Amino acid sequence: AGPAVSVPDPAAGQAVRAADRAHVFHSWSAQGLIEPLPVAGGEGSYFWDYDGNRYLDFSSQLVNTNIGHQHPKVVAAIQEQAARMCTMAPGFAVDVRAEAARLVAERTPGDLDKIFWTNGGAEAVENAVRMAKLHTGRPKVMSTYRSYHGHTAAAIHITGEPRRWANDTGAAGAVHFFGPHLYRSHFYAETQEQESARALAHLEQTIAYEGPGTIAAVILETVPGTAGVLVPPPGYLAGVREICDRYGIVFILDEVMAGFGRTGAWFAADHFGVTPDLITFAKGVNSGYVPLGGVAISAEIAATFDQRPYPGGLTYSGHPLACGSAVATINAMAEEGIVANAAQIGENVIGPALREIADRHPSVGEVRGMGVFWALDLVRDEETREPLVPYNATGAANAPMAEFAAACKRGGLWPFVNMNRTHVVPPCTISEAEVKEGLAVLDEALGAADAHTTAG
Ligand code: PMP
Repeated sequence: AGPAVSVPDPAAGQAVRAADRAHVFHSWSAQGLIEPLPVAGGEGSYFWDYDGNRYLDFSSQLVNTNIGHQHPKVVAAIQEQAARMCTMAPGFAVDVRAEAARLVAERTPGDLDKIFWTNGGAEAVENAVRMAKLHTGRPKVMSTYRSYHGHTAAAIHITGEPRRWANDTGAAGAVHFFGPHLYRSHFYAETQEQESARALAHLEQTIAYEGPGTIAAVILETVPGTAGVLVPPPGYLAGVREICDRYGIVFILDEVMAGFGRTGAWFAADHFGVTPDLITFAKGVNSGYVPLGGVAISAEIAATFDQRPYPGGLTYSGHPLACGSAVATINAMAEEGIVANAAQIGENVIGPALREIADRHPSVGEVRGMGVFWALDLVRDEETREPLVPYNATGAANAPMAEFAAACKRGGLWPFVNMNRTHVVPPCTISEAEVKEGLAVLDEALGAADAHTTAG
């Protein structure tokens, strides 16, 4: 089943590997310790190397190819747009730029009807934060420890997870707090409702001690993704909305990873009935076929910049190739019921199967998720919930996760692995048969993780 691989050509793969090693400086990596896989092509839920190995993509790359690899309608739209107009500065009105903005605005909640275009997620966060600071005249931004918002200046300072450490100068006025996470708050809360109440009280106390009049924005990932798919408990997001209203704080939802079908809705906010003031998005808006991101802006914040200029902009904001691909992606997702597919396959296939897998493996502490957005929290001991590897583990300390990942790849599955977690984040287009094929490999590979538990 699935697409065939292109004719194997190991010599070409070696040439790519050599050129890459000589000249490409890779992100987030010790350059001498990595071995990037030379990739020859991809289609749908699969991609393949030059040696004839095909991988089922349970990572959607960086959780962005929501529509799968090489979707023919999106490829054709990029080709047509390239023939028509490759580039045009942001100051002009361009058909695909306006149409993509209309398609996004139509899907955002409430009156978030104006779109500021960026080249990706971090730039969207930079601009959302700038808008909130200019709108309120306040200096600080609050965010959770278990968050990732991007790698540019403000975005990495606002980020809570350990990748912030090497970059943090505190320049963005970031104040971190703990959002809800029942599995790791079990000494303080027994139920999701208690955890929600605890987290809201903690947020409000933090605001009180920081000085409510100093806080421009609270930014949250609607469902924190990189930190382990932390689906918020009942009432939490509505509670944050209320707290922000009480103190005149701008509420930003970062949907760079959660948006455009990932959770089984166009925006994750739809599941929780909450309307923020700003939404940042990227990744799924065009599945990363051309770099694109943006900020959806409420009428009130847009009005701040009606008679006064917005002091920010990018040369490639609203790039025609990117916007053309977004129009085609959103239309294809709507026509082909791709968001509904993500919702139903998550609820009926992935969720039940992962819970059943978790029951059989001592290394799986918790299963969390919705849509095609799932995480397995791997532990050394189910009682103590000690993570299978320490935070930021490398080398021998990370062996349990490295062995698990290697076992997945040997079985033809490309996993998403982050610290002590593996995420199940395939394209929204994935079929039931493909999910089952991938989960069978994952099930077997978890044996490698089990061997490192106290039970194993
Ligand atoms: N916000 C969130 C929630 C993300 O997951 C990411 C990327 N993983 C970003 C922002 C940054 O996006 P980009 O890498 O496109 O700049």
